[in-house]
Amino acid sequence: MCQNRQGGIIMRLIFEYEKQKQSVYLPECDVESIELSQKRERPLHLPSLGEITITRHYTELAKQTHGVNDGFYPLGSCTMKYNPKINESIASDRHFTDIHPLQDESSVQGCLKVFKEAEKMLCEICGMDAFTFQPAAGAHGEFCGLLLIKKYHEMRQDHKRTKIIVPDSAHGTNPASAAMAGFQVVSIPSGEDGCVDLDALRAAVGEDTAGIMLTNPNTVGLFDKHILDITQIVHDAGGLCYYDGANLNAVMGIARPGDMGFDVIHLNLHKTFSTPHGGGGPGSGPCGCKAFLKDYLPGKMAEENESGLEFVQPANSVGQIKAFYGNFLVVVKALAYLYSLGSEGIRSSAQNAVLNANYLMHQLKDHYHVAYDTTCMHEFVISLDKEKHEQNISAMDIAKSLLDHGIHPPTMYFPLIVHEALMIEPTETEAKETLDHAAEVFKKIKEKAVSNPQAVHEAPYMTPVRRLDEVKAARELHLRYVFDDEK
Ligand SMILES: *Cc1c(COP(=O)(O)O)cnc(C)c1O
Repeated sequence: MCQNRQGGIIMRLIFEYEKQKQSVYLPECDVESIELSQKRERPLHLPSLGEITITRHYTELAKQTHGVNDGFYPLGSCTMKYNPKINESIASDRHFTDIHPLQDESSVQGCLKVFKEAEKMLCEICGMDAFTFQPAAGAHGEFCGLLLIKKYHEMRQDHKRTKIIVPDSAHGTNPASAAMAGFQVVSIPSGEDGCVDLDALRAAVGEDTAGIMLTNPNTVGLFDKHILDITQIVHDAGGLCYYDGANLNAVMGIARPGDMGFDVIHLNLHKTFSTPHGGGGPGSGPCGCKAFLKDYLPGKMAEENESGLEFVQPANSVGQIKAFYGNFLVVVKALAYLYSLGSEGIRSSAQNAVLNANYLMHQLKDHYHVAYDTTCMHEFVISLDKEKHEQNISAMDIAKSLLDHGIHPPTMYFPLIVHEALMIEPTETEAKETLDHAAEVFKKIKEKAVSNPQAVHEAPYMTPVRRLDEVKAARELHLRYVFDDEK
């Protein structure tokens, strides 16, 4: 059972209902049945409920959470923009859903065309020459891109290049992916201005540099003003340049990472290209590269031949990093989004993402300390460090208080280079009225926090559960339901 702080029961879990008449009836078995040699020792605890109970259960569950369709969701670095419903409608067409990955290519030419068209458009947006849709998430795309960099040095017999440089303003997945791909991670500091410290970069590169991973805009919401110097310095040292394009929302249609000197990139379709994420379904982190790396791409690529499209395995492929062709339906949704916006729409959505972030930042500036007080890209970071020390008001207090106003908290305590950070990304799909309202709420909470700190320490008041015991949650992991007969 799910209990709140007062011990009250909020909701039953699906396993805790009394068994009802089933709502699924399987047809009579019309093939020979066989005895399995390894049978379960205990019965399988499958819930058995009528359709209306199930519907009510999941409706209630949906009401207990907060999604983009419920209200403002300024979760920094996650781009919780509105996902147009037409994308879902198109992706649920049976010609996309009722197919099998082993079906003959000649019978799914339209689906291959989806890959090819999406690839062409992403290449155009990023200034790249090829894209694979194998990776299922942003971090998976990073891993894929790093394998390309690794393969490139291997093919040149350049085995001493074992290090990847990662600025401290990078997304947390960057060093993790580099380590997973077998590289040593070299962290370099940012300067006062929040951008890469070029002297530190010059000092870090050398014969052992495999490449750099740059998150741009970086995690403090800034476009690195030295970006051309960065790619030049790394290339001069013989390394390759990786662009973490998960947050391309601020840049697409305006500037192209390929033109800035980057060799490899990943994008998050489930951020920038409006496909749902979180509980909304699987992700897609396509990885793009320049032509000289194309031969190393994983999986199979949709390629044109005389009679149409076929899947071709790149000559020196790093292998397969996901079953079959990646999360195909996510690509369908992203392509629907790309088609509906067109090149003008892509550009104006980036412009509006930047405008909305700067608009909100300016409204909050007199009430909160903005970490880097300069024009931001799609997001900005505020810091409660001073308030924490002087008045014992934390970023957590502000974040939790927002919940009582129907606003999802910003990303908290990230990036690590800003203390007591709140990272705010409004996205371009929010109306001015929503931003004005959010600004009012932020101001009110700050006033309340100053006049009555205890009141914000106790927030939220209105949510199904109040402040959770995060230490307990981290220490006592309950990763699956334990049934009575398993205790
Ligand atoms: C979200 C994000 C990622 C990771 O994407 P996942 O799909 O969560 O793996 C990587 N880099 C940046 C900059 C991001 O914002």
